[in-house]
Amino acid sequence: MRNADKTNYYWPVVDGQLWLPDGQPATEAPQGSHACFRMDLPETDNDYRHWICLSEKPLPLAPEHWLNLRDLMGSSTPDVWYWAGRALQIEHWWRRHRFCSACGSTLPEPAPERLTHGEMVRVCSSCQIHYYPVQTPCIIVLVTRGDYCLLALHQRSRTGTYTTLAGFVEAGERIEQTVVREVDEEVGVKIKNLRYADSQSWPFPSQLMLGFYAEYEAGSIEPQLEEITEAHWYHYRQLPKIPPRGTIARQLIDGFISEREAASHKSGERE
Ligand SMILES: [Zn+2]
Repeated sequence: MRNADKTNYYWPVVDGQLWLPDGQPATEAPQGSHACFRMDLPETDNDYRHWICLSEKPLPLAPEHWLNLRDLMGSSTPDVWYWAGRALQIEHWWRRHRFCSACGSTLPEPAPERLTHGEMVRVCSSCQIHYYPVQTPCIIVLVTRGDYCLLALHQRSRTGTYTTLAGFVEAGERIEQTVVREVDEEVGVKIKNLRYADSQSWPFPSQLMLGFYAEYEAGSIEPQLEEITEAHWYHYRQLPKIPPRGTIARQLIDGFISEREAASHKSGERE
């Protein structure tokens, strides 16, 4: 229910594109939306309401304000990034769940009021299977060796950026197993002393990145060439082109630099 005491923000999303005039959500509901429902959690008592507006057809909105989430990376506030990411993941779920994957029935559309006040779920009316928006867990890890860290140029990189290693959690795996396996697979290096750092929702389209540090234990770098063009140890003061701010990869690298700077400062004090 729209509430006059609250500030209402509207996030129109059509086919993976978000309408965001001047980098801020609209404060008026767009005309012609197919479904418009609240996406902030109903039980929280906030000063705002965030609404996602979905449509099968183009909406009559100024065309220059449609953008991809990648356009926002590094330039938006954490708040805008969060809501934009949430809106795009919800739209992705909505668009990809038109039919039941068990029995093939068309999934009925829940009433927007139900989505707003109840669970965000589409239910098959034939076999009762529930379809929720799902996040896919992935690990991302910075392997360190004293003042050096391991950065890789990925085959898919179009910007020549050297970054951390990452990969999807396989069925049945614990997160820690995934980290060890991915590092071994991608660069042939054994690691130890895993340390969880932070997480980041990565809505491309729906990953949850779990960020770790790990220390080098053994082995020499042998990149898996299907995925990685090259990988090297880099001194924290002589890094190649690294990912932009706003990414968890950059956060891990920046955290490592700070740690090494602090350690260097301490050893300087002792001398
Ligand atoms: Zn079904």
